[in-house]
This record gives sequence, structure tokens and C-alpha cells, in this order.
Amino acid sequence: MLTSKHINPAQLLGQTDVHLHYVNERVAIHKEMKATFDVMVAAAKGDGIELEIASGFRSFDRQLMLWNNKFSGKTSIKDSDGEVVSLGDLSPLELTHSILLYSALPGASRHHWGCDIDVYAPNLLAEDYQLQLEPWEYSEQGPLAKLSAWLGQYAHQFGFYFPYARFQGGVAKEPWHLSYLPLAQQYQQAFDVELLTQALKNSAILGKDVIIENIDDIANRYINNVCDAPSNVILAK
Ligand SMILES: [Zn+2]
Repeated sequence: MLTSKHINPAQLLGQTDVHLHYVNERVAIHKEMKATFDVMVAAAKGDGIELEIASGFRSFDRQLMLWNNKFSGKTSIKDSDGEVVSLGDLSPLELTHSILLYSALPGASRHHWGCDIDVYAPNLLAEDYQLQLEPWEYSEQGPLAKLSAWLGQYAHQFGFYFPYARFQGGVAKEPWHLSYLPLAQQYQQAFDVELLTQALKNSAILGKDVIIENIDDIANRYINNVCDAPSNVILAK
């Protein structure tokens, strides 16, 4: 079992990368997850699936940029059917909830931890295919069906599970988002709404007032409202 002695506020908030291993220039994961992840990648490869990370660690500042781009309308916000949400009539609170369906608040993204990753398999996609990270791509009719089936069967043996396996009224179903339980459960337990509130107050986030005003609601509906890991997920290293 791993211990939580290394977890500190900066790691929870995505404000440090000392806990990370850089897979390449673009992708970083938690150092203590790398060995097990590599074993899972090798196992998948043996079954004809090139398991790759579309998105690993994300910093507070990067998540802040993604958030502000959505809040300002610079990038589009999609609903769970993949349709673009029209911002015209939305109040700041409604806009906030629309973004939270797919994008976490900076300081509250599981991608800050390094043990949560979005995965795909490039060898299952046509060469010119642009991955959308939409649920249908991972469904039985989608191009990544084989990956979903494989992960459903084997991910637990390596300590991985899907915290967004189902829509529970908060974050949308995300069949690409894997979490490494031995580490993730420690970060999840260490989550502190006061710490998050302070970080947001000190940031340049758009919608700050309405977010801070509703932070307990947001924490209950989105941050703490994740699917439990199935009981067969391996916890030991
Ligand atoms: Zn994700």
C-alpha cells in the first residue's frame, strides 16, 4: 500500500509537477503509477490495442485557461449529446453548470493529481481520424469499442477504474477517463473545499463570484459525486 505522506496542497491543486514523470513533452503521469501503467500498456499491446494517453496531468493554470475560454465563449461548450450549447440566455450560474458537465474547476480537476488519464488507442482509429473524446466513440458501435471492452475486462487487475462510468447528476459519463485507485483514493480523501475556495479567490477565474457563492453545491454535485471503484480493483502495488 502507498501512503499519503507525499500529498500536499500544491499537488491537490495542480500547482506543482514534482510528483510527475514526463512520458513525452505533452503528457505527464504520477511517478508512482508509471510502472503499473507500463505493464497494463504491454498487456493491451499483446491483445492488439495500443493504449495511449490523450491527456494526463493538467496544471491549475492550464485548467484555468480551458475554463475561461469556455466561460468567455472562446471555445464551445457541449452537452452530453455532443451538441454545442448556446450561451445567449444562460445566467452565470447556468453557464457554470454547463461547463462543469465536462470541465472541472481549476483546482478541482482529477487531472491535477497525475494518476487520472484520458486514454484511447490510435491503432483502432483511421489515420486521418480526429479523436473527439465523445461517449459514442467508446460505445459498442464506436471505433474504440475494442478498447472499452478490454479495459472493462482487465483494467481492475492493474488498479484502474472509471470514476465517471455513469452519469450521476454531475459530471457526464466519460468512458475514456481512467483513475489509478491506489493513488486517486488518497487525493480524493484529501480534497478540501476551503483550500479550493482560497485558490479560486486568488485566481483570475471568470464567474468567480457565482462559483464561490455556490462552491459547496458544486463540490457535492461534481467533485465528490464520482462513481465508487468496483470492489475487485487491485489496490496493492
Ligand atoms: Zn479526464
